[in-house]
Amino acid sequence: TDTLHIIGGGMAGSEAAWQVANLGQKVVIHEMRPKVETFAHRTGNLAEMVCSNSFRSDDDEQNAVGLLHWEMRAAGGIIMTTADQHKLPAGGALAVDRDPFAETVTATLTSHPNISVSFEEIDTLPDDGQWIIATGPLTSSKLADAIAAETGAEALAFFDAIAPIIYHDSIDMSKAWMQSRYDKGETEEERTAYLNCPMTKEDYEGFIDALLAADKTEFKEGETAGYFDGCLPIEVMAERGRETLRFGPMKPVGLTNEHDPQNKAYAVVQLRRDNALGTLYNIVGFQTKMKYGAQVDVFKRIPGLENANFARLGGIHRNTFLNSPTLLDDQMRLKSKPNIRFAGQITGVEGYVESAAMGLLAGRLAAADMRGETLGAVPNTTATGALVTHITGGADAKTFQPMNVNFGLFPPVEGLKSGRRGRKDRYKAYTDRAKLDWQAWLGTSDANAD
Ligand code: FAD
Repeated sequence: TDTLHIIGGGMAGSEAAWQVANLGQKVVIHEMRPKVETFAHRTGNLAEMVCSNSFRSDDDEQNAVGLLHWEMRAAGGIIMTTADQHKLPAGGALAVDRDPFAETVTATLTSHPNISVSFEEIDTLPDDGQWIIATGPLTSSKLADAIAAETGAEALAFFDAIAPIIYHDSIDMSKAWMQSRYDKGETEEERTAYLNCPMTKEDYEGFIDALLAADKTEFKEGETAGYFDGCLPIEVMAERGRETLRFGPMKPVGLTNEHDPQNKAYAVVQLRRDNALGTLYNIVGFQTKMKYGAQVDVFKRIPGLENANFARLGGIHRNTFLNSPTLLDDQMRLKSKPNIRFAGQITGVEGYVESAAMGLLAGRLAAADMRGETLGAVPNTTATGALVTHITGGADAKTFQPMNVNFGLFPPVEGLKSGRRGRKDRYKAYTDRAKLDWQAWLGTSDANAD
């Protein structure tokens, strides 16, 4: 095939189109806006920044997202070079004047001789030809349905549901106790995976009243559009009925309070260990749209959490993303339909920069395919490679959640000091190694193009 079709002209689709066009191939971008809108975009421009105007840290020696900037600049990426043109003063971060940024990207792409833009919604999965789907966290519902029909509904998520996380040492263990439901688990580690906070009837009723009264952030119109039931916020469950939570995440079954074994708790709030060290616990099933201040007030009513220290508060965000570890191969192709690649946030990366980077990579991989070649894998010592390795294989498919780029995804550099004191040298070593390896890979990626 001699033309690549890209669905979605956001961060990822724009970057993919630019890469492919500059490698000498024809591209059509299919973008549904402005005809079909999302709840977050405001314009019909390509590469619109939907929320903050920051591309985060620009430090390419000590920060993984800064390194990703560097790698995209080295590849002549349109998102980074245009961001540099419309940079706003913001200390070490790369802040961008959003409207001129998106207008420039749109004008540059539409005037490229190898690119045409078709403003239309695509609502089915294409059977043949070369395609990249880069429709982002707000993929239109018709296309999402078509994707789910191909992948299975359980392999496509529609929301990030973030449960609040609490420091273990701030939990009152004279009230809470460790136990997994029905004492499941063989090892000490499994048995200490859960921590329980008991409630009397009176505690429960007071908690429900507080939940119902709490200050909430409203969902924007269109944000929930039919997808919502898998991860209801606790306050919505409480609105559906005062007993709903007691039969849901707060059910008291299979648990015995070691501090008061004779009396069965009326309801139980369960927390699950959140890290290997056991220093953090998240409240199971407690995704919420309560405002941060209200969350602290309401959650401190839970017996045992009166003095809780929160490492992170809860949230829910609309985010359509694939279970990439099971669905995509290491060339970002859908295993069941290899003429389709995915790129951007829908692959399970998180953020403007990460999404653009996955567009850049998918574009280069597709361009090579169109030349009848196969590019070697990007080394996982680079930021781009570390991210794609994570989403297409490194991450645990069962608990897969969207990922920002970070040095935890990189293989260690041998012979360096570990711990806090060695951090600066370590990050410098990671970024030095990444730059060399990225340049080498880019060389092979450019080599045979016209
Ligand atoms: P997008 O940039 O959203 O591009 C996808 C494009 O596909 C859109 O233009 C859309 O109109 C189009 N499209 C969708 N369906 C179809 C279809 N069927 N046919 C044709 N076109 C279609 N990241 C940050 O780094 N900072 C933030 O502050 C930030 N805030 C966010 C706020 C919200 C509300 C959301 C939802 C996400 C936010 N993100 C943020 C996350 C994410 O990084 C951005 O959404 C980013 O734009 C993702 O890039 P993308 O190319 O994957 O998707």
